[in-house]
Amino acid sequence: MDHGGCALLVGVKNNRIVKVKGDPDGFLNKGYICPKAIASPDRLNHPMRLTSPLKRVGSRGQGQWDKISWEDAIQEIAAHLNKVRESHGARSVAFCQGMPKGLEHFVLIRLANLFGSPNLVATQDVCHAPREISGVHTCGFYPVADFHHPSKLVILWGSNITDTNEEGEICSLLLEQMKHGTELIVVDPRKTALAERAKHWLQIRPGTDAALALSFLNVIIQEQLYDKDFVAAWTHGFDELAEHVKKFPPEKAAGITGIPSNKIRSAAVDYAAMHPAVIQWGNPIEQTIHTFDITRALVCLMAVCGNLDIPGGNIQPLDPNLLGLGKFVRADKLPSKRKEMIHAHHHTIPRLMTVPPAFFRKAILTEDPYPVKAAYFQCTNPLLTYADSRMTYEALMKLDFLAVADLFMTPTACMADIVLPVATQFEFNDIGHYGIGHGYILARPKIVDPPASCRSDIQILNELGKALTPEEYWYPTAHGLVESVLSPSGLTYAQFVEKGYLKGPDQFRKYLTDGFRTPSGKVELVLTRAHQYGVNALPNHETVSED
Ligand code: SF4
Repeated sequence: MDHGGCALLVGVKNNRIVKVKGDPDGFLNKGYICPKAIASPDRLNHPMRLTSPLKRVGSRGQGQWDKISWEDAIQEIAAHLNKVRESHGARSVAFCQGMPKGLEHFVLIRLANLFGSPNLVATQDVCHAPREISGVHTCGFYPVADFHHPSKLVILWGSNITDTNEEGEICSLLLEQMKHGTELIVVDPRKTALAERAKHWLQIRPGTDAALALSFLNVIIQEQLYDKDFVAAWTHGFDELAEHVKKFPPEKAAGITGIPSNKIRSAAVDYAAMHPAVIQWGNPIEQTIHTFDITRALVCLMAVCGNLDIPGGNIQPLDPNLLGLGKFVRADKLPSKRKEMIHAHHHTIPRLMTVPPAFFRKAILTEDPYPVKAAYFQCTNPLLTYADSRMTYEALMKLDFLAVADLFMTPTACMADIVLPVATQFEFNDIGHYGIGHGYILARPKIVDPPASCRSDIQILNELGKALTPEEYWYPTAHGLVESVLSPSGLTYAQFVEKGYLKGPDQFRKYLTDGFRTPSGKVELVLTRAHQYGVNALPNHETVSED
């Protein structure tokens, strides 16, 4: 029900799931299972599950529906989206996704690209994208925590990994390492389960992470603990950074972060001294207006201590041999996307490839930068999940047309013109972790049949694609989309399921041959294009977001 890092053993009787357990041989979870997965059979058989396409007959939100056939539902949606495309242009139709679970997210992007709309709306602006984008701008890639090789030290920076599946990587691999002596630093306002076991628990005041990271850099540079060879050969702007972080001695950072200066000092010394060390960072550092500075400061920390792209550090994983993401989503069909997306008009830093919900909502309500008149939602319940439900309600009420695909009649589905009943992750063949940049994909095969009238999101989009865009880009059945991802590997889906997962080759220090994919070819401690983007060239801490 998330990116899906956990391998499960599923007991089936008469096409019903009777038991779900963690698989002790699971590549990432080693037997772990969370409460969501344990409860999942109840969800499959829940009496309130949607089982038929529905068409609104009363006024919007009134809750009066007619059951309609799938064929009519697809034709209705296609007719309404086409009407908006003709009257206002394709960009006035938005395609909205919640947390991606499998291929459905990328099939939705494919549909949007082929339809001609640049507006794929998702909450990535507060979940993953800031880390990914600042990583790409700073060192040319998104530095993923490598738990597959031993680290001497792990920093959990805003990551509560025993309770949440951080980007599909649950705690099992880390706990295994800790049995063999890996030390832990936990940066968290709360005393989490792993904070109890950490060498250093840094109880940070929320929103002050940049000050703490800059203070780490202050100690490490002042005490000459950094990786001098790496810094000399592969960083850009070290002298400026060294001068800049003089403003953040632990004594000053203590006043900002609430962490005693001696704790900051000794944690920083440990991060520099214990090599390799890895930073597992979580969503909290992204849910602040200062996220670009915070994540940049952390990438600088990884770089200065020589922990980038080494085993047991923060790495750039290589994918297995699969269809490239750009080809799968048919990025070639919409070359103007980056300039045309709603948020590009608000001057966000380049490379954010999904529209932040706040800008999407603003476009509906105020037509800034242009009107959005229709939307298709999957795996998402914005009326509850976007900040400011009242404003979201007003935006949904203003749409000319809304279609929602979901398992249940959520508050958002209640606002739709057409509601589509979907299959759950146990009811169709899917691939987990594709396109996330972690260097592996996971098989997620069909276990039981869905209720007769429920269809997977992939199947729905394959049919909608044929109704809205040239048929040649779609497949006789949705399984063709799944097989197309695997085709370069030479494996069929059945063979992939036998293996359970596919992982790219382990290759490290790729910068030695290719350099870093930044304008300077080095890790940009000072951003060479900062002026162009209107951001700080050096990561900074100015103030907390809110008191
Ligand atoms: S953490 Fe995610 S992948 Fe693991 S069992 Fe729970 S829902 Fe499934």
